[in-house]
Amino acid sequence: MSMVVYTSSRSMTDGQVSELHARRALLPGGWASDVAIRIGPTGRIREVCVDVAATDGMDRVDTLLPGMPNAHSHAFQRAMAGRTEHNSPADDSFWGWREALYRFIDWLEPDDLRVIGRMAYLEMLEAGYTSVAEFHYLHRGRRREADVDCQTMAQLMLDAAQDVGIRISLLPTLYQFGGFGEKPATDGQLRFICSVNEFLDLLTQLQPRASERVALGIALHSLRAVSESGIQQVLDFRRTHDPMMPVHIHVAEQVREVEDCVTWSGQRPVEWLLRRKLIDARWCLVHATHISASEIAGIAETGAVVALCPTTEANLGDGFFPLQQFLESGGRIAVGSDSQVSISPVEE
Ligand SMILES: [Zn+2]
Repeated sequence: MSMVVYTSSRSMTDGQVSELHARRALLPGGWASDVAIRIGPTGRIREVCVDVAATDGMDRVDTLLPGMPNAHSHAFQRAMAGRTEHNSPADDSFWGWREALYRFIDWLEPDDLRVIGRMAYLEMLEAGYTSVAEFHYLHRGRRREADVDCQTMAQLMLDAAQDVGIRISLLPTLYQFGGFGEKPATDGQLRFICSVNEFLDLLTQLQPRASERVALGIALHSLRAVSESGIQQVLDFRRTHDPMMPVHIHVAEQVREVEDCVTWSGQRPVEWLLRRKLIDARWCLVHATHISASEIAGIAETGAVVALCPTTEANLGDGFFPLQQFLESGGRIAVGSDSQVSISPVEE
């Protein structure tokens, strides 16, 4: 089976309509065969017909998918891809990668963020992603609180998306602490820290940029990094302002993370969220890698989406998500490029 990202061989400015023929295509009603698509001069689809034979003059592809949403991205990490992919001691893990990430961002200037973001988003468009959920937690400049504010950093991500034309759901991230039990942030984490008030200000001030191509949502970095009262305040804000606002969270990527959560609260991370009835169908649980049978059923019942990032999860040795059991329970999934070690929905 071949899959391609389709770009018309004709110029979109010459006023012509182009026609594309796919042997099969995924349409809103499911897979269809012999699909002809007419595309207007502005690049918008005018007409889709099924059971149509290909004719001369049509561009032809084998299998056609619609533009894919990238459900989980940290665009700045594109500039780090390849820097940790080398032979390392057997006990190397996600936690070692995280230390490398902290060292990497130590030289990252705010303006770099826009440049790297543009590059990553352009590569996403080339690969077939047409929208991106940007889980944005690099809130500060190199001199921490002293120089650049959270607003500027968030606006840079929106600018980068706008520069290349990808639709974006910007998810400013609440990141209050360095570990479970409200541990203070380490030096490496200081550029991520944002109080609840700063976070709510940030969300409010970003509202004027919302448009057809820019959506805003909420990210809670992880249960490691937020307090219960912080979560409540943010969800209260959501209830008042926009109950449909999406909420994303890194939830159970690492065995140690699950163990630390049990030590802290007596519950596993997903169990902790489910017991408090916090999750609804607008939530996206990222890396729900280590979950029990009851957590699988619990997530599926809420209608929340699990964002899988297989190339990142493989690269970091996270473990395997119980995909079959989750789908059999009626669970919903999405894919994301996360650490950008690969930018390709097909590879995911
Ligand atoms: Zn992530």
